[in-house]
Amino acid sequence: MPKRMLVAVYLRAYKSSRSRLQPLIHLPVPRQFASPPKLNRNMATKVEKTEDEWRAMLSPEQFRIIRQKGTERAGTGEYDKFYEEGVYDCAGCGTALYKSTTKFNSGCGWPAFFDAIPGAVTRHTDKSWGMERIEIVCTACGGHLGHVFKGEKYDTPTDERHCVNSVSLKFKEEKSQ
Ligand SMILES: [Zn+2]
Repeated sequence: MPKRMLVAVYLRAYKSSRSRLQPLIHLPVPRQFASPPKLNRNMATKVEKTEDEWRAMLSPEQFRIIRQKGTERAGTGEYDKFYEEGVYDCAGCGTALYKSTTKFNSGCGWPAFFDAIPGAVTRHTDKSWGMERIEIVCTACGGHLGHVFKGEKYDTPTDERHCVNSVSLKFKEEKSQ
């Protein structure tokens, strides 16, 4: 895509996020722009399947988001406004990724966590849509989860927002964490 078009797409998405229409992709909440990402490329992928195997075991929507790096529509996800006590596993491979104690209400339209279970999530630079964002994937299976945004001044211990698709997660109730 030519750069000018990418910029137009970005501006349209950015504008819609500001005007409270729902953006089509995960975007920073426009308060203050983030500091450069720290990347973690040392974690090995442990669950390896062919794309055909993934397609057979996932629903079409799960496949689109988890394996093809898609995004669920803002405000539609099962866990967007969900605050039960428990653990969120990877919908692809079942690895525990997030605890409900790190979930917070960001108002962005997707489940938001201020931290992941240590080592469970791996970060990559994502240069799609004409901008640079930090993509997060399940360390074990490489499944796409969403993006991390920093420095947005939410009142959380890390000042990070893991913006995760509900489709990428499977909640498991767990009372005593
Ligand atoms: Zn996984």
